[in-house]
Amino acid sequence: MRRKVKGLLGQTLFASRLSAVLLRDAAVIVAFHRVQETAAPDDSLTVDVEMFEQFCRYFSRHFKVVSLSRIVQKLEQGERFKGELAITFDDGYRDNFETAAPVLEKLSLPATFFIVTKSIGTDLLPRWDAERGVRHPWMTWQEVRALHRKGFDIGAHTRTHADLGRISGEEAQREILGSRRDLEDSLGAAVDLFAYPYGGPSHLSEDNRERIKKAGFRCCCSCHGGINLSGGSPFRFQRVPISAWYASPHQFGFEVAVDRSLVNA
Ligand SMILES: [Zn+2]
Repeated sequence: MRRKVKGLLGQTLFASRLSAVLLRDAAVIVAFHRVQETAAPDDSLTVDVEMFEQFCRYFSRHFKVVSLSRIVQKLEQGERFKGELAITFDDGYRDNFETAAPVLEKLSLPATFFIVTKSIGTDLLPRWDAERGVRHPWMTWQEVRALHRKGFDIGAHTRTHADLGRISGEEAQREILGSRRDLEDSLGAAVDLFAYPYGGPSHLSEDNRERIKKAGFRCCCSCHGGINLSGGSPFRFQRVPISAWYASPHQFGFEVAVDRSLVNA
């Protein structure tokens, strides 16, 4: 189906409040990477700031935007979801601090930033940016701490953006527990939210999922899969990655609602 058509259907769906029925017992966790002044249409990791603000306003209008910790807490306490939505960011790009955070603050929205600890404050060039011939700076530790002070949550995303589907033993332990320690040392506060790098079904072994639990994290997020239902495990959180692929937030609404109806089917 064409993206614009989906957008129109999404608009109708949410305007009719049918979404409230579809999202009963469901929570959505969205994942962003970069928010910049402009985004190339073929750059799946960047959303332009105008579109980002449109998404944020859409989330506020149609969902109950809460922190990811609140979604974890609901599962821990056996409460049912009621159409919550949490905003998250992966990797730790500087534009998260410079461009995305001011929009979130303006709209009073909570968010979680998942950090690759050994990238922070360096000019390391990740493979996916090197392949495109682009360079996007990382946050400094001061910026990560400033986000934390502003009340945003900081989570771990390993030390070196390791593929936790491929590594095991001590190496995996260093990436998982090590990233938590790096963040706690820098922030002087507990860090208990985790998202695994690459985020696909093959990028996390069950052994490493156990390691994440034992390392003291309260959740583990993928970067695929759609919505989450009441009664699920916080160590199997699914997320919806947001990119320029969406023609509008209404298309996102459509995809989420369809996802829900497929889960019900
Ligand atoms: Zn990542």
